Amino acid sequence: MKQIVKNLIGRKGANQLRSVETVFKGWKLSFGNAVECPICRHTYSRFLPFRHRKNALCPNCRSLERHRLIHLYLRDKTDFFTTPKRILHFAPEKCWYKQFKSNPLFQYETADYMVSFMDNIGAAPDHVMSIDDIKFPDNSFDVIIAIGILLLVPDDAKAIRELHRTLKPGGYAVLEDPIKSGPTEEYDLSTPEAKAASRQKYGHLQYRYYGENEYHKRIAEFGFDVVRSEYAQELDRHRYGLGGHRYVHIAYKR
Ligand SMILES: [Zn+2]
Repeated sequence: MKQIVKNLIGRKGANQLRSVETVFKGWKLSFGNAVECPICRHTYSRFLPFRHRKNALCPNCRSLERHRLIHLYLRDKTDFFTTPKRILHFAPEKCWYKQFKSNPLFQYETADYMVSFMDNIGAAPDHVMSIDDIKFPDNSFDVIIAIGILLLVPDDAKAIRELHRTLKPGGYAVLEDPIKSGPTEEYDLSTPEAKAASRQKYGHLQYRYYGENEYHKRIAEFGFDVVRSEYAQELDRHRYGLGGHRYVHIAYKR
């Protein structure tokens, strides 16, 4: 049924329909105060489900569990919101875009790879470029945000070197990729069949799946001091809708 509707109204129409649906469901939940989004500060009786995860999606700003945990960590444990800084944000998330763009302390620039318009934020990126080829001189940024990006690049070493090169000394990268128990798995996507299988399984080309005890070590190999915080343990998981998220990874350039 969903596919039939999508065929009739197209992808843009389907996205608009989904937005209306989300707004309506969010309106019904907005009379409650059991959960709180630290990003947009709205409260609800619960967050909306997302991909079979309960209490996951903020009806207002569309933040998910990982965004809220990262936001709380940056707010409570770093200077992110309190000192002026130049920020580069890859594949910017809708929940942060307007807030960061309008923050007078931030010189905020967005980037995406081979994308001239980003549906989720309704704008073009400031820079069309890949994380493994950042078109800026050394020591350009105080902070680079790249969430769910390193698993998408064929050579993650090249990408991490670029992050290190373009961050100012003492600057930091806010990185978060899906992690799993056990060792990191690398996937060979050199054949059309392997690419098709990856798209089928993940919806995109995924070159690896990081092991939870290897992710921070991989980033540290390239000159970063990586803070692997378990701040989530100190927070009210249900109230902020943090799901099973355990770690926040912040990579400081040495
Ligand atoms: Zn929100």
